[in-house]
Amino acid sequence: MEGLGGIDVEALVKGTEIFRNCKNIVVGKGNIKASILFVGEAPGKNEDLQGLPFVGAAGKNLDKLLAKVGLSLDDIYITNILKCRPPENREPLPEEVAAHTPWLIKQIREMKPKVICSLGNHATKFFLSGCNVEGMIKQPGITSVHGKVRMIEIDGMKIKLIPLFHPAAIIYNRSLIDRWEEDMEIVKAEIAQKTLV
Ligand code: URA
Repeated sequence: MEGLGGIDVEALVKGTEIFRNCKNIVVGKGNIKASILFVGEAPGKNEDLQGLPFVGAAGKNLDKLLAKVGLSLDDIYITNILKCRPPENREPLPEEVAAHTPWLIKQIREMKPKVICSLGNHATKFFLSGCNVEGMIKQPGITSVHGKVRMIEIDGMKIKLIPLFHPAAIIYNRSLIDRWEEDMEIVKAEIAQKTLV
C-alpha cells in the first residue's frame, strides 16, 4: 500500500517488532467521508483481536461520551497513532510512532478532515509537534491543552486540532468526564460551522 512519495506505509508497519506479535493491523472505523477524525494511541487487547479500534473498555466509554453529545460513527472516523498493539499495552516507542504514522498521514490525506480530535497525550503531542516524532517530547501534556482549538497544517491542508482527554483515562473520573463534555461542545460547534459542510 503506497503512501507519501511512494512510501509503502504497510511495509513500514510490518517492519516493526509489534507487528510480529499482534493478531491484526487495526486501520480504523467509522465514516471515512466525515469531516472529523479522532486519533487515539494504539490498539489494546480487544482491538487487536477484532481488528477494530476502540472496541474495548475505552471504546465503550468513547461510544457513551459521543452519544451524550449526539454523535455516532456516522459523524466521525477513528484511528490510532499505532496500527498494532504494543505488548502489555505499553506506551508507544518513538521508533514505532515514526514507522506507523506515515500510514496515519496517508489516511489524513485521503480523508481530508476539517477537524482532528487527538485523544490523550501521544496523539496530541504528535500533532502539536508538526508530526515530527523527535519534537513530541517538548510538547505540553493533555492537561494543559485539552479543549484548546488550534490550526495545524498537514501536507498543505489546514486542519483544526482539538485535543481531548483519552477516554480510557476518564472512565472513573467524574470531573474529567465533565471537562470532556465541555470540550465536546467545542467540537460540536466546529461541526456546526458551515465551512465543514
Ligand atoms: N485505546 C486507544 O488509544 N486506541 C484504541 O483503539 C483502544 C484503546
